[in-house]
Amino acid sequence: MNAPNFKQICSMLQVKSFVFNEFQENTYVVWDETLACAIIDPGCSNYQEQKQLTNFIEMEGLKPSLLLNTHCHIDHILGNNFVVDTYQLPLHMHEGELFTYQDANRWAAMFGLPNFEVPHQVVFLQAGTPIGFGSSQLEVLSTPGHSVASLSFYHAESQFLFVGDVIFQHSIGRTDLPGGNFEILAKSIREVIYTLPDTTCIFSGHGSITQVGEEKKNNPFVKL
Ligand SMILES: [Zn+2]
Repeated sequence: MNAPNFKQICSMLQVKSFVFNEFQENTYVVWDETLACAIIDPGCSNYQEQKQLTNFIEMEGLKPSLLLNTHCHIDHILGNNFVVDTYQLPLHMHEGELFTYQDANRWAAMFGLPNFEVPHQVVFLQAGTPIGFGSSQLEVLSTPGHSVASLSFYHAESQFLFVGDVIFQHSIGRTDLPGGNFEILAKSIREVIYTLPDTTCIFSGHGSITQVGEEKKNNPFVKL
């Protein structure tokens, strides 16, 4: 019998990030050895950004299988309908973010962006119930505080964590928008994010990648 292939047992994810729209939002494409991919918070807001996303997926031979939103602020949802229509995927989000989604049109008007709607195909995620794509599963963690029902997605084998705008490198998400609350945000960071292994990579909605251990030591806003 052949020795088991480590990669087959412990599937590791690969990640590509894009910086999209005028809010400089990070959109992530995550895939495993089956080449199935998840698209997290697509912020592509124009033809050029849409092309960047689809060209990458095509060039890598990826099969889009899952569309996820960490939360539904405008900069994280601008490309949802494009992804839904292009790849025939339902949007997976927390039901508690529906208000945030609908409120995004107020922001769209303010920033001169066209109105947009919640996609017709929506599946509501539950914290604690993992969500799969390819041969991988992401844990769905409840991390409110920046937005009322923000979720984070965690892949333990890869030690990857997608947090939306909960925490950034040496910073935290703003809490002055509707549904924001600093105490709740600090609790999410301390009791969920800071309990993961120090070497966990944090992929935030803006800015650079960081790690749990680095933030526990040097985040000036939320200390352990
Ligand atoms: Zn946000």
